[in-house]
Amino acid sequence: MITDSHCHLDYPKLYDQLDDIVKRAEYNQVKYLLTICTTLKSFERIKLIITKYKNIYGTFGIHPHESAKYTQVDSKFILNIKNKHNKIIGIGETGLDFYYNYSEKEIQKKSFIEHISAASQLNIPIIVHSRNAEVDTYEILKSESKNSNLKVLIHCFTGSRDFAKKLIDLNFYISVSGIITFKKSIELADTVSSIPMENLLVETDSPYLAPLPYRGKDNEPSYIIHTVEKLSQIKKLPNESIVINTTNNFMKLFNLT
Ligand SMILES: [Zn+2]
Repeated sequence: MITDSHCHLDYPKLYDQLDDIVKRAEYNQVKYLLTICTTLKSFERIKLIITKYKNIYGTFGIHPHESAKYTQVDSKFILNIKNKHNKIIGIGETGLDFYYNYSEKEIQKKSFIEHISAASQLNIPIIVHSRNAEVDTYEILKSESKNSNLKVLIHCFTGSRDFAKKLIDLNFYISVSGIITFKKSIELADTVSSIPMENLLVETDSPYLAPLPYRGKDNEPSYIIHTVEKLSQIKKLPNESIVINTTNNFMKLFNLT
């Protein structure tokens, strides 16, 4: 059974046909789904989704694109929300996006630190988005995790080999998306081959980033089988071993039994 560790089921493209999407995921052996929060509005739907479907878990957090709009979401606010919902198993997605800079850098950093603080107090993982911000992401995570057992999942990894090594040295988990199936992702595939199996998870980031052969179309959790297959080629391991290991890593990281 496969685990899609990062999807956005609250987005209209998925939410409007969720029963069918969940059925197709099950049919393709995708057993667990983690639907990731990006805004307060997104969280309203996530609450409905995790109540309705037994195999779907959720997170709470504000995406770095949106952090300027939700400056009231500090660590206290996050703790308050998490404590009301036991199927909320992670904090995020948070992090830094200096490619789009939809929110000012300083606001993104402050929000990121508030999310980290909440996650370490709750002792649950933080889901991190990082784009064009490797140095700052690493520095913040390193300094904030110094005095705590911060659990970190770097989502949709596309970074350098050096960045991957630094993350592994801090015992962080790294999730790969459909990007690894793209023809141009030769360097990324090489980097992923260097990441130990114990640190790897898989995700769709649906409705975005559909893997080959669906590239350019709307993505959905059932398509994760193509990412698993590519990862099996990259790691030179049987498909089944990728499935078992990435799901076990997910269960371990999120403390699920
Ligand atoms: Zn995402």
